[in-house]
Amino acid sequence: MPNHTRKRLFFGLTALIYSVLSIWLIVALNKTLDDAKLQMKEMTRSFLIDVVNTQFEFDTLKRQVNKTLTAPSAQNLSASISNQQQLASRTSLLMNSLTRLSVPDSMQAAYIEELTQFDSLIRDLGTLLNNSTPSSQEYSAEAENLLQQLEYNVSFLFTEGSELLNHKANQQIKVLNTLSTTLSVLAASVLAMFAGLSLALRKVYQQKTVLQKLATEDALTLLRNRRSFNEIFSLEFARTKRTDGQLSFLMLDVDHFKLFNDTYGHARGDEALVRVAEVLRHSMKRQGDWAFRLGGEEFGCLMSTENKSDAQDMAERILADVINLNIVHNTNQDVGVLTISIGIAQLPNAEISTESDFYRVADEALYLAKKSGRNRFCIGA
Ligand code: GH3
Ligand code: MG
Ligand code: MG
Repeated sequence: MPNHTRKRLFFGLTALIYSVLSIWLIVALNKTLDDAKLQMKEMTRSFLIDVVNTQFEFDTLKRQVNKTLTAPSAQNLSASISNQQQLASRTSLLMNSLTRLSVPDSMQAAYIEELTQFDSLIRDLGTLLNNSTPSSQEYSAEAENLLQQLEYNVSFLFTEGSELLNHKANQQIKVLNTLSTTLSVLAASVLAMFAGLSLALRKVYQQKTVLQKLATEDALTLLRNRRSFNEIFSLEFARTKRTDGQLSFLMLDVDHFKLFNDTYGHARGDEALVRVAEVLRHSMKRQGDWAFRLGGEEFGCLMSTENKSDAQDMAERILADVINLNIVHNTNQDVGVLTISIGIAQLPNAEISTESDFYRVADEALYLAKKSGRNRFCIGA
């Protein structure tokens, strides 16, 4: 897989993981919020039920005691006692749900004080009822007195209980609002962060690509530069040795280029180099083919071949293509147009065991081509 595709894939995967994590975070927080809401609802509901039941059970007890006072009987008295016991058990239930409600200390203390008083009154009433006989009337005044105090007390528990619930509801609304706002801000910042991160990563990646290109590209011809050549030459040489494959290295040099510059000027010289580079770019377009500007008016081509003659055919074609560019060069011997010479080194070759052997053989072949009259190729031994 090419390097940039791998990087894009990595970038895409990172983005995907970030998105999944952000969504998961938001969903998880939302669920926690829902759970908290439900829990709060449960707490307030159980307190409300206890308060309402206290009021209801007190009314029942009051009715039953009055009935016992007006129509004394063992049955009425025992019904009163059972009502009293039921109401007495409310104290601990109310205390429990009050604690779970968690209201401010001052409010809780006032309520507990009233609850303690309620507990003591209801117990006093219990003692009174338990010590009475169905026919005795002497407890009536005290019972009525206790019922009156309890009435006041229960009504306080009811109204103060509503206050507490009111307060709790406001508190819950505030907490929920804060949580919702936090959640929205969090979601927005995660998204913003992600967007910023994507942009930054994209920019860095683009800049890196530009820099990489600048570092490996020749500014005039846009072919790969010497630095890139050194790297790829080395890799291709090692790979071919390892796989016992075939590799040809063509070293190309423009003929009498100094004369060309002297005759037509440096700018025309540059133009000519760009056009020769174009020929090489078009010739080296198969996978495993590479074209480089080695420096000055010197170029290099690397090609993986199946037959050694493939490289010779290619050299012949390049020579012809350069002539066909028809760049007038009157001082180039008797040809009249710009030409090049090529030295070829090929693997496998018993004489070539190192990278520098490979380079040297091509260089010597080029020298030979120059010496033998230029505008031709020579194959190194
Ligand atoms: P030969 O056929 O033996 O190669 O002769 P030559 O004149 O081509 O070789 P020489 O090494 O004597 O001269 C190379 C010339 O290439 C000299 C230099 O001015 C020119 N040259 C090198 N780089 C550039 C360039 O980037 N632009 C231009 N216009 N000329 C360049
Ligand atoms: Mg040269
Ligand atoms: Mg030259």
